[in-house]
Amino acid sequence: MSVPFFRSSWKEPEAADRVSTAWTRVLDSGCFILGPAVQRFETALARRLGPRQVVGVNSGTDALVLALRLLDLKPGDEVVLPSYTFFACFEAVLRSGAQPVLCDSAPDDFIARAQEVAAKLTPRTRAVLAVPLFGDASALPGIAQLCRDNGLILVEDAAQALGAHAWAPDRGRVPVGGWGDLSTMSFYPTKTLGAIGDAGALSSARPELMERALSLRNHGLSGSVHAEVGYNSRMDALQAEVLLLGLEFLDGWLARRQAIARHYLAGLSDLHGMSLPADREGHAWNCFVLRCARRGDVQARLAEAGVETKIYYERPIHRQPACRPPFGEMDLPHASAHAREALALPIFPGMHEVEVERVIAAVRQAVA
Ligand SMILES: *Cc1c(COP(=O)(O)O)cnc(C)c1O
Repeated sequence: MSVPFFRSSWKEPEAADRVSTAWTRVLDSGCFILGPAVQRFETALARRLGPRQVVGVNSGTDALVLALRLLDLKPGDEVVLPSYTFFACFEAVLRSGAQPVLCDSAPDDFIARAQEVAAKLTPRTRAVLAVPLFGDASALPGIAQLCRDNGLILVEDAAQALGAHAWAPDRGRVPVGGWGDLSTMSFYPTKTLGAIGDAGALSSARPELMERALSLRNHGLSGSVHAEVGYNSRMDALQAEVLLLGLEFLDGWLARRQAIARHYLAGLSDLHGMSLPADREGHAWNCFVLRCARRGDVQARLAEAGVETKIYYERPIHRQPACRPPFGEMDLPHASAHAREALALPIFPGMHEVEVERVIAAVRQAVA
């Protein structure tokens, strides 16, 4: 039996039936882009994120580009972001005209915490782009406090962590997507809330920002005039219908992700030669990523056993060819070390129990 890295929950019969019905409704309506389905999705997601507004766009990357555009950054302004993250974070900061400042990961973890961010603050820092990587929201309270103390804007890239939460001293339990002055989300098919194509969203509690995002996603249109130069970043009705259904399934999917993660943690905890991710409260488990020194060898053995794995991320941003110069000379030792050792196991809500057991057995053999 082989175990794929990912299988979409939309292929399961009950979900597929509901998608067919919803998509037929879209066909009949003739309204394919934006419109009532997108509005219904924005309202439903906003309800989940607390007192916030949501604007649907066509990808998580565009959500980041729009969020940074809304900050009106100037050349010389700096935005601190982790080097160990998906490349889109860096692209969006660069496109905003501001200077990206890359920070290291924590020594024992993939994510950057307040301490790593604080090391990169200068008088020119305007914003921090925080990334609850792999679904781990545990660094957000510290980073939010750091931003408050220093008068910085917090942008939260919640692409991998919708469904996660962390605790704020003044607000209690705050869902991921509700932490940032601006928060961005991706509904790429493998994320915790996945579409059947590209889609994304941004959220904020500040209506004036959301008003402007609504205009920017549609060429800067405001009424019948172009108030500013915008983008085509509209969400499709077909994706909005899928995402509305997905919101109904989301808590069940998250519970299943958590059960699989706990099963992995229990089944692998006694192994030497690798470290397991920490089981933190509020984790959304979008990815389950090990660190092991003999990664190449372990990955090859898992492939032989029919278990598909992936590497997030092969290189941190400062080691990407597109970024050197000037970033190539930076020394971010933890990010570089993690990139050599990271190995992601399959984790998706439709994973069968026998598949989970198969992965555990294969990993135990591979590291033996
Ligand atoms: C997936 C992802 C994005 C980009 O989302 P797309 O919808 O693929 O454009 C941005 N940031 C992070 C951390 C991601 O994982």
